[in-house]
Amino acid sequence: MIDNYVRKLFTSFAGDQEIRLIIGIAYLVASVFFIMGLKFMSSPRTARRGMFMAEAGMALAIVTTLLDQEIISLEWILIGLFIGSIAGYVMAIYTPMTAMPQRTALSHAFGALAAMLVGVTKYYTGHVKGDDHGVMIAIGLEVLLGAMTFTGSMIAFGKLQGTLPGAPIQYKGQNLINFAIIAALVGSFGYLVYNPGASMLFYVLAGVSLVFGVSLVLPIGAADMPVVMSLLNAYAGLAGCATGFALNNNVLIIAGALDGASGVILSIIMTKAMNRSMTNVLFGGFGAVQEVAAAREVKGTIKGQTAEEAASILDIADSVIIVPGYGMAVSQAQHSCKKLVDYLIKKGKTVRFAIHPVAGRMPGHMNVLLAEAGVDYDLLCDMEAINDDFPTTDVSIVIGANDVVNPAAKEDKASPIYGMPILNVDASRTVMVLKRGMNPGFSGIENELFYKDNCVMVFGDAKKTLDGFVAGLVELDA
Ligand code: NDP
Repeated sequence: MIDNYVRKLFTSFAGDQEIRLIIGIAYLVASVFFIMGLKFMSSPRTARRGMFMAEAGMALAIVTTLLDQEIISLEWILIGLFIGSIAGYVMAIYTPMTAMPQRTALSHAFGALAAMLVGVTKYYTGHVKGDDHGVMIAIGLEVLLGAMTFTGSMIAFGKLQGTLPGAPIQYKGQNLINFAIIAALVGSFGYLVYNPGASMLFYVLAGVSLVFGVSLVLPIGAADMPVVMSLLNAYAGLAGCATGFALNNNVLIIAGALDGASGVILSIIMTKAMNRSMTNVLFGGFGAVQEVAAAREVKGTIKGQTAEEAASILDIADSVIIVPGYGMAVSQAQHSCKKLVDYLIKKGKTVRFAIHPVAGRMPGHMNVLLAEAGVDYDLLCDMEAINDDFPTTDVSIVIGANDVVNPAAKEDKASPIYGMPILNVDASRTVMVLKRGMNPGFSGIENELFYKDNCVMVFGDAKKTLDGFVAGLVELDA
């Protein structure tokens, strides 16, 4: 009913050809917005603008789709928009920053499920004719990628949320079963492209793809989750792209390709940051899952200090590098951190942040928190840019970071994180580690840094400790 009304409104000033042209131009503008949005998101300074551009592009794409009369009844789109917006709003408001990775995994899962359902519906309603080999490729890929991303993301969600064990889940004959699944997928997909009418096989493809997603992510350990997440992001994007081909929708093809490509690029960055080979990741760690090695004997003693004692060391330091990690997010210490940084800079000290690419629980986690607290972007340095400066730094303050500063990655060949690039905080004159106790980080392994001669531990919640630092410095200045 409503779409008839909109159609009448449009056809009153434009013919069918003009409407198609307007729709085409609107999709093009939306695509340009997406590309510009991604470009702006590459720097924290312009990231907010990038988000707004991408949102504007998405709004334009949705409105255009609403006006594209051939797609679906407008009433249902409005109902979907309403329900989706409410769900999105509630999730965005009530999800804590520490649970963002799980939330992202859910977004990937739902996006991929939508792609898969569209594909199945298209096939079920006879969209693919007996000799439509090209359409079958699009719908087959859409269902394959959508289904495996859906179940894979749900498993990633479970691992990140802690409802499933974080350790790699393996069983006897796993490699054999995995290769049998891949063979079944390749075989059924290939035959369907040759003979799109083989409907039984289509549903087999959908079912086996669902199983494949589970078997792809189960054997991957929690420490590799950043790579898995960005890879699932790429799969979800490619599923969207295939949906675009199946629906003959250009904006979906472009948005899906952008999502898929950026996911792949992020995966490459992440694999480098975690020292994993791309082949290993692409095959979901099949046959190459690392066992948690027996920890080698840790030598040295732990030296605990109070916040006041630590403040007196900071008082005489000239250069300070702050290394934030997951604990900063848990403690919500970013605002207290900003206060400390402002105070130190006011006292004439050089202060910078060293950001490890996988610090926290999602790519960019630390940047988001520090931006929220209003920390100057110019103070944030990537690992490669700052790692050589630690030997000439007086104090490194490690706020709730653990794995990303663990020297075992450089020194212990038996360590599961061996080879992962880390921040060389141990090379600075003094290292202060702010954490609540001696709990390990995400990888579950001991950290020898804490026992080194130049390392002092300031135990307690990071926010309280940082407030204690500021109070201590103020007292020293009084
Ligand atoms: P880690 O998980 O290694 O360590 C966090 C530390 O924070 C813990 O040792 C914990 O010790 C401490 N902590 C927790 N709460 C507080 C608090 N309130 N106050 C002070 N300290 C606290 O964090 P990193 O950032 O160093 O490393 C990230 C890890 O997460 C890597 O292994 C990475 O591979 C993985 N990962 C990263 C993702 C990403 O995309 N960035 C995604 C998924 C996983 P204690 O309890 O004793 O206080």
